[in-house]
Amino acid sequence: MALLEIASLSLSFGPLKALKDIDISVESGAIVAVLGANGAGKTSLLKSVSGLYRPQSGSIRFDGMDLLSMPPHSLIRHGISHVPEGRRVFPTLTVEENLRLGVFALRRAPVGRAYKASRDWCFELFPILKDRRNQFAGTLSGGEQQMLAIARGLVSKPRLLLLDEPSLGLAPIVIKDIFRAVRQIHTEEGVTILLVEQNAKQALSIAKSAYILELGGIAFKGGAEELARDERIREAYLGGKAVAGRG
Ligand code: ATP
Repeated sequence: MALLEIASLSLSFGPLKALKDIDISVESGAIVAVLGANGAGKTSLLKSVSGLYRPQSGSIRFDGMDLLSMPPHSLIRHGISHVPEGRRVFPTLTVEENLRLGVFALRRAPVGRAYKASRDWCFELFPILKDRRNQFAGTLSGGEQQMLAIARGLVSKPRLLLLDEPSLGLAPIVIKDIFRAVRQIHTEEGVTILLVEQNAKQALSIAKSAYILELGGIAFKGGAEELARDERIREAYLGGKAVAGRG
């Protein structure tokens, strides 16, 4: 059964149609990628799921609940966590303090051992954060800040993680580390992940299925392996080369 079901979703900003009649289904436990160029509507889609944008029509259901009728701050209590584009860590707080903010909005925030267990799992995923736990987040590299942003989204133990362009602006070696961790989040804890990316090659290498947005509409959808082999997708999104290294 789908954990997240988006149906006939449309969102406009004045005359601009940012999302046009979008249908997306995310099975429980899967990684689903949403790909597309700059301005295709990827961020608008994630912000609609987390309640930051209010679409004019359509529906978004999470585990049977109607998300469009819920205030954004309540979503974390239902197990939805949004890691926004551009990292957005608090630079004058330490790594540890940033992580604590990840559970701040929970009605019953995990305290003591429960909090430490989820924090320690984040430290296992990103060991560098453990080394830097007392350092101000503003002193971290771009890659480390992205790791912290993901970890902050994970300490609340979400069922659904919305990840917006985690590879943006990072060096290839760091991108590899981030994608390794995203795969690990999914395999170790079964977290369902809706991953928005411009880096189609990396995203298709870890996703089960993918949707490709063009000008607010879905241009292609299918299994990730199938899309990675598709000539049209390779031409437009993968530099014409086959995707290597799935598995
Ligand atoms: P990027 O990779 O650059 O983030 P994207 O695929 O995430 O691109 P969106 O940010 O969702 O695309 O933008 C889709 C369209 O909606 C763009 O034309 C953008 O200018 C417009 N848009 C997004 N947010 C707003 C807003 N708050 N007000 C007006 N227009 C907006």
